[in-house]
Amino acid sequence: MSTTLINTIEIIKAGTTKINDVDFDNLHFGEVFTDHLFECDFKNGEWQKPIIKPYAPFLLDPSAKVFHYGQAIFEGMKAYKDDNNDIWLFRPDENYLRFNNSAIRMAMPEVPEDVFMEGLNQLLKLDSEWIKKGKGNSMYIRPFMIATGAGVIANPSEEYKFMIILSPAKSYYSGEVKVLIAEHFSRAANGGIGAAKAAGNYAAQFYPTTLANKAGFQQIIWTDDATHTKLEEAGTMNVFFRINDTLYTAPTSERILDGITRKSLIDMAKRENIEVEVRPVLVSELVEAAKNGNLKEIFGAGTAAVVNPIIGFSYKEEYFELPKIENSIASQLKEKLTNIQHKLAEDTFGWTVKV
Ligand code: PMP
Repeated sequence: MSTTLINTIEIIKAGTTKINDVDFDNLHFGEVFTDHLFECDFKNGEWQKPIIKPYAPFLLDPSAKVFHYGQAIFEGMKAYKDDNNDIWLFRPDENYLRFNNSAIRMAMPEVPEDVFMEGLNQLLKLDSEWIKKGKGNSMYIRPFMIATGAGVIANPSEEYKFMIILSPAKSYYSGEVKVLIAEHFSRAANGGIGAAKAAGNYAAQFYPTTLANKAGFQQIIWTDDATHTKLEEAGTMNVFFRINDTLYTAPTSERILDGITRKSLIDMAKRENIEVEVRPVLVSELVEAAKNGNLKEIFGAGTAAVVNPIIGFSYKEEYFELPKIENSIASQLKEKLTNIQHKLAEDTFGWTVKV
């Protein structure tokens, strides 16, 4: 069924375009969406005919399970346009695999590969005018799946909607980021859903993050739930620490999302002969390194910001500011990775895939 399903795709084009209303030089992340979306419903135990249609709100039964039990997952990825107007994706197979791993954890049906990939490719081609050339410009892609089955019985839905929406993005500068190390709240626990891109993981972060914001910090560095002694993620990004000339990042686990930026940076750093240690990093090591001057950098890694430098952290009411350094490893790796993504440098890893 799944190998030919995408061949039945129906395409309904929008009568008018919204593109002329968009100020592409002043885009706020994730606020503007293109003219079309991709949709495929799951009903009666199988995926139905896929469709590309004009972007628009849609109706759901008020008892749909997504509203009551949060059976919902998503992905975040980007497309780039090169100087020849070709469109490129960065490691889309990784997003596809992670999406279906999230689906399995949330008792949702896996999406067939051709529906995900071909649906995305056709959508990107149809809305290709919206993808702007030049470094810093990209198309943020949001595939997601929600439980649409009606009924407030707390069991898995029998119906789902898979969709892909597209949002043009400028390079993301979040300003100076100070972080608070979590001493009480957790984003994930062993046996939980931290390694899935499940919607509820993000909602659960809002309250502690709002408290951190009020205290003057932009993000939280999450620690392990059992002991709060190991450093795990920064906000919605994986996190790297540079102590002297070695980069440290936690191994992925049931509590940590297997970030594609993270694994790409590890591979790039190794190739540049930068020492990388993937192992649990203790809060106590970080504090000690900050005190004795060996802590050089902290940065988050994720699709939206690519690399996001952190200028200081607070732990147990004590604030530690990082030194300002020229030519940081964070900026070097960001430059190299974005050059590969934008096809401005040779992709010797084979990460970029033409649409
Ligand atoms: N951790 C969390 C919790 C995230 O939501 C994300 C964003 N997907 C990441 C890490 C970074 O993953 P990626 O590099 O694949 O965007």
